[in-house]
Order: sequence, then C-alpha cells, then structure tokens
Amino acid sequence: MNEPVESFRARARRWLKENLPPAPEKLAADGDEQTWERARVLQKRLYEGGFAGICFPREYGGLGLTQEHQRAFTEESLAYEMPLVLNMPTFGVCAPTILDCGTEEQKREHLRAVLAGDEILVQFLSEPRGGSDLAGLTTRAERDGDMWILNGSKIWSSSAYAADYALCLARTDWDAPKHRGLTMFLMPVHAEGVTIQRIRQTNGSDEFCQEFFDNVMLPDSCVLGEVNGGWAVASRQLYHERSAMGGGSPYFSGARPRIGGEMANLIGLARETGQLDDPRVREDIGAAQAMRVIENQLVARVGQAIASGTMDGPAASVIRLFKAESILLQSDLALRIGGAAGVTGGAGEEHGLGQAGQDYIYRQANAIAGGSVEMARNVISERVLGMPREYAADRDVPFRQVKQGR
Ligand SMILES: Cc1cc2nc3c(=O)[nH]c(=O)nc-3n(C[C@H](O)[C@H](O)[C@H](O)COP(=O)(O)OP(=O)(O)OC[C@H]3O[C@@H](n4cnc5c(N)ncnc54)[C@H](O)[C@@H]3O)c2cc1C
Repeated sequence: MNEPVESFRARARRWLKENLPPAPEKLAADGDEQTWERARVLQKRLYEGGFAGICFPREYGGLGLTQEHQRAFTEESLAYEMPLVLNMPTFGVCAPTILDCGTEEQKREHLRAVLAGDEILVQFLSEPRGGSDLAGLTTRAERDGDMWILNGSKIWSSSAYAADYALCLARTDWDAPKHRGLTMFLMPVHAEGVTIQRIRQTNGSDEFCQEFFDNVMLPDSCVLGEVNGGWAVASRQLYHERSAMGGGSPYFSGARPRIGGEMANLIGLARETGQLDDPRVREDIGAAQAMRVIENQLVARVGQAIASGTMDGPAASVIRLFKAESILLQSDLALRIGGAAGVTGGAGEEHGLGQAGQDYIYRQANAIAGGSVEMARNVISERVLGMPREYAADRDVPFRQVKQGR
C-alpha cells in the first residue's frame, strides 16, 4: 500500500529543508551549460534521497506513487532550488514516451539514468521545412545490415547541446503514405556525424539548436517502437507534450513558484507604477485572475477525464490551448500595466518591471512550442468534437509521390 500523502509530504518537507538550498532569486537560464550541470547534481541528490520519479514505476527507479504525492512534493519544493530544466522535455515528454513505447531493455537502460540525473533527453521532431506537418518530415534513415544511416536536419530542438539522447523521428519507407513510413529512434545526441548549431533568439537566449545529420550510424537497438510504426510513438510523445504544455503532466517535479505568482507580478507592477487604485487596471487584473482559476480547474478536470478514460488523449489539446491563451493574456496585461517602464525598468530582474518587456518578447513562443495553438484547435475540432477533417492532398498517397516545396 502507498504511503499516505500527508505523511509523504511531511517527510519530503524535512528532507528538502536538510538537503536542498533555497530557490535562487533568478531563474536559471537554460541556454547556459552550468545550469544543466547544476541540474544533474540536484537531480542526483533527489534520486539518492528517494524523491526522484515520484510517478514513475519502481522497477525503473521511480517511486510508483500517485499524482497527489507528486503535487504534494511540488508544493513543498517551491521554496528550494530544484532541477526544473529537466521537467521539459526530459521528465514530461521523453521519459514517459520511453515508458509507453520502449522495450524492457530500453526502459531499464534509460529511465533509471534519467531519474538519477545521468541522462538528459530532448526531442528531434521539427524540421526546417516546417513543424506543424510533422508526418511530412524528410529526414531519412536507411537500413544497412543491422545499422541505420541517418541523413537530414532538425531544428528548434530545445537544449539539444546539453543533452545525451534524443527522440528522433525519421522517414524509413518512402513508398508508404506519410504517417506509415516513419520510425522513431532513441539516438545519442553527440553521435559521430551529428553537428549541432545554436540559434540566438530575440530575448538573447541561445538554448534552441539546429542539428545536421551526415551519415549518422545507429544500431537497430536505437529503434523505439516498431520500424515504420513511428507515428504511434510520436502520437504518444505529442500527447505527453500537450499534457505537459497544459500543466497536466504527472511527471513534472517542482515548479517555478508561480501558483498565484503572475497575479502577484501584475499587482506588483500596478503598485510600482502607481495604478493600483485605477478601476480599469483592477478590472484587467481580475480578468487575468479569472483565467488562472479556470485554467487550474480545466487542468484538473481534463486530466482526470483522460486518466479515467472518459476523454481520449487528444483532449490534452484543450488544456494546451487554454494555457497558451492564459499566458498570452497575462504577458499582454503586464506590458499594458508596466507601459514604458515595463520595457526599460529593472531589466534582468526576475520580478522587476523590466521582466514584463522580456516576457512579452517571448510571449508568442507559448503559442508555438509543443505544437502551435492553431494545430491544437485543429485537433480539438477534428478529434475531440468529431468535426470534418481538414482536406489533405497527401492523404493515402505514397510519400515519394507527394509534391515537396512550393
Ligand atoms: C519554445 C519552443 C520550443 C520548441 N522545442 C522544440 C523541440 O524541443 N523539438 C522540436 O522538434 N521542436 C521544437 N519546437 C518547434 C515547434 O514544435 C514548432 O515551431 C511548431 O510545431 C510549429 O512548427 P513551425 O515553427 O515549423 O511552423 P509551421 O509548421 O511552418 O507553421 C507556420 C504557421 O502556420 C500555421 N499552420 C500550419 N499548418 C496549419 C494547419 N493545418 N492549420 C492551421 N494553421 C496551420 C501554424 O500554426 C503556424 O502559425 C519548439 C518551438 C518553440 C517555440
């Protein structure tokens, strides 16, 4: 029988106090190599202390406990320095996909290593030709004896430079229609023939990467799931990603101390700029708070419905979409309240006025990462509401015959 949640919470509280330093003032930059080294150290400490992988099965190094245990741990951990960069995509997306689709050997090799802080996982899905039409990708893997030879390019891979393994989707059958000729590989990121370039964004971060594959040799044991069955694996991966983007992943551990945090920021901004008594500003802050309340309820409701089987996996797009709308509203409001001071004042401070401007520059990423909100709307209309499917000229056509480019 599981340890009762409250006793687990009390034990976690004591352990955290004795073993983890207080949360730093500034959030760690994920384009910084030291951040990842530090995350590995902290994760190892959690693993050795018996608080890693709360919802992962025991046989693969986790604790096999429930989402309520995880939630209690996350609440207790908010005041401490946690390896938060490992949540996405290592814990929230890649590890659960290996758990769902991997062989026993792959699960034993990778999951314990991930939970012990020895392995960081990333996603090689999007390509320079586009990310929304994932099944139309053109990175190719060709069989050569019991090896595969990979050629092509992936892009927008978050933090690939710091990772050990990637889930990489490649085309292995050009005569099958696009969804049926794909295979997922669990590949070493720094294999011979992989070149990684970092991409600098407008907010200064360079955590994004582009990879080039030149005759990368992968053994058969790198195949995750079935050969030409990669779409099924990618579908699980996208499900976990949508859940994670929507805030519903049971595998995230720890969180930025933000439950009500954005609200505190908006109120702080209004106070700093002398607008706390302005009825219009108060109304805006109220609207943002209403979104937060609905978001939390929606995550709980849809999460439970998917877990109990009353809703299917694609329903995770509902929380993914709502969360993006909520973040967009908050960052727009923060800038509206902050005005010019939101762009110039206190830049670089996590909760300072200047942060409103920084957050605004990054706002659109929330509507794109993990599949764009437009694609989420498509999934909701077609796969949740059962509306007619979008026309696709390449449906059921051998991929070799599909026109590429303009
Ligand atoms: C912060 C962040 C992190 C990311 N991390 C990763 C990562 O780790 N690994 C990875 O592989 N990728 C990653 N991505 C890439 C992301 O998955 C893609 O950017 C996304 O899927 C969209 O692909 P695209 O940018 O190529 O846009 P495109 O696919 O070219 O789309 C362009 C625009 O057209 C719209 N559109 C396209 N098709 C349709 C349609 N059928 N109906 C309606 N609208 C449509 C899109 O919504 C979008 O607005 C990340 C992106 C961001 C912003």
